[in-house]
Amino acid sequence: MKEGLDILYALQLKDDQLKDIEAIIKDIPLQIKALEDERDSRSDMIEKAKKKLHQNGEERKKLEREIAVIRDKIGKYKEQMKKVTTNKEYQGFSNEIKFEEANITGVEEKIIEKMCESDEIMGMIREAEGEFRKIADIYNQQIKDMLANLDYHKAKLAEETLNKKELRDRVDPKLLKAYDNLFVKKAGKVVSNVQTDFCGICNIKIRPQVLSEMIMSSDVLVCESCGRILFKKIIDEVEE
Ligand SMILES: [Zn+2]
Repeated sequence: MKEGLDILYALQLKDDQLKDIEAIIKDIPLQIKALEDERDSRSDMIEKAKKKLHQNGEERKKLEREIAVIRDKIGKYKEQMKKVTTNKEYQGFSNEIKFEEANITGVEEKIIEKMCESDEIMGMIREAEGEFRKIADIYNQQIKDMLANLDYHKAKLAEETLNKKELRDRVDPKLLKAYDNLFVKKAGKVVSNVQTDFCGICNIKIRPQVLSEMIMSSDVLVCESCGRILFKKIIDEVEE
C-alpha cells in the first residue's frame, strides 16, 4: 500500500501541474487581447487625425464655393454698371465691387489658413504612422511569442494528460476511487505530503500515534483536521 500512496502522491502532483498549465492556457488569450487593444488604440489616434484632415478639405471646398458666389455677384454688378447713366450710380456699383473684392481676399486668407492646418495634420499623420509601424511591430512580435507559448502549453497539456492517465492506471482502484471522490470536495488537493509531523495542506500537527501508524502500518490514513489522505515519503522513514 505504501507504494500505492507513492503513486497516488505522484498523481496529485500531476493534477497540480495540469491545473497550472490550464491556468496558463486560459490566461494567454487574455494577455493577447490586452496587447491587441493597446496596439489598436494607437491606430485610433491616426484615424481621428485622418477624419480631421477630411473635415479640413470639406471646409476649404465650402470657402471656395463662397468665393465663386462673390465672383458671380461682382460679375452681375459689372453688367449693371454698363447700363448706368449717372456718375453716382456708377460710383455706387464701383464701391460694391470693391467691397466684394475685399470679401474675396478675406475668404482667400481663410483658405490659406486651412491649407497650413492641412499641412500640419498631414505631417502629424505621417509621423504617427511611422511611429505606429514601429510600435505595431513590437506588439505583433509579442503577440506571436505569446501564441507560440500557448501552443507549447497546449502540447504540454496533452503530453501530461497522457502521463496522468498512465499514473491513474497504476493506482490501486479503491484508492483511486477515494481520490476521485475527495478531488471535488477538497478543491483538487487530496493527498497531503507530511513533512516532519505537520499536515502539508492544513498545517495541523499530526498526533504521534497517527504518525507512527503511518510509518508502521500499510493503512491509508487521513488528516484528522482536513480529511485529506496523508502521505509521507519513504526517505523520511529511512532517516528516522
Ligand atoms: Zn490536514
